[in-house]
Amino acid sequence: MVKLTNNIVIEKANALGFDLVGFAKADILNDEITNLNKWLSSGYQAGMKYMERNIDKREDVKNILTDAKSVISLATNYYTKENYSNSNDNGKVSRYAWGKDYHLIIWEKLAKLENELKKIDPKFECKTYVDTGPVMDKVWAKRAGLGWLSKNSNIINKKLGSWIFLSSIITNYQFDYNELIKDLCGDCTACLDACPTNAIVEPYVVDSNKCVSYLTIENKGEIPEIFIGKFDNWLFGCDICQDVCPWNIKFSSETSENNFLPADGNKEIKIEKILKMEQPEFKKRFENSPINRSKLKGLKRNAVHLKKSLIESKVN
Ligand code: SF4
Ligand code: SF4
Repeated sequence: MVKLTNNIVIEKANALGFDLVGFAKADILNDEITNLNKWLSSGYQAGMKYMERNIDKREDVKNILTDAKSVISLATNYYTKENYSNSNDNGKVSRYAWGKDYHLIIWEKLAKLENELKKIDPKFECKTYVDTGPVMDKVWAKRAGLGWLSKNSNIINKKLGSWIFLSSIITNYQFDYNELIKDLCGDCTACLDACPTNAIVEPYVVDSNKCVSYLTIENKGEIPEIFIGKFDNWLFGCDICQDVCPWNIKFSSETSENNFLPADGNKEIKIEKILKMEQPEFKKRFENSPINRSKLKGLKRNAVHLKKSLIESKVN
């Protein structure tokens, strides 16, 4: 029997298209849970009630896998060089949602990786997550040395910036662990200054109630009128705080995963087209896209909001 090592895991993960791989000891997340509870008690989770659940699992991955010893954190670069036309008739879609749904892509890669590692050592046990379960992917990415947790609440890697999808493997296996990366945000406040709704209420803290990304995707209610004219034509998600980040401006590099390239017309969508869209067309076009998350109802709500903003800008 061959024993798994960091290098074997890294080699296999890289071959499957994971760009970054790091290893963290499966410790209890005391400070991080204190911060999470503070964030929750401020109501910054808005309608994301699931964030309030399974705190015990978020705190201690042994409540997910009894014998957990390590968390392997993986990042997949999704940056492509494409850009927007900036036409007022179009609503912009966040970069992460241009191509095929990343869950589908990364789940498949994780399943293959798990199989390969189990073939090498059948004693390797794990639970895998792509930003869906009660696992603090960003915290584990930080602890596994993939990057630092930035003022706009992303993980920034020195070589790739923050255009990365994170995934986590909780495992019963022991590895050598990475060191923490220094926070390199420094004196920069570009993301706080550029946020159109002041959603970054203090460095490292985002209030979802004000965040365009939350309001256009996870939010199941209406978009408050106070935000009319503030969305800068974002229809689904918002990339402003990442677009202005000097680390992204300097270090973004193109993904090798073709599935992340923009699907036909999914980079920006005509507002009028959405307002007229019926369910069969929505299903056909967005079934395998992250845009499916908002459902047609949510997308129409966002389109109405942008249309009101456009009308208001013409009146004023
Ligand atoms: S995603 Fe947009 S609205 Fe949300 S914090 Fe970043 S810049 Fe602000
Ligand atoms: S814009 Fe500046 S402060 Fe914000 S995440 Fe990037 S480096 Fe950090």
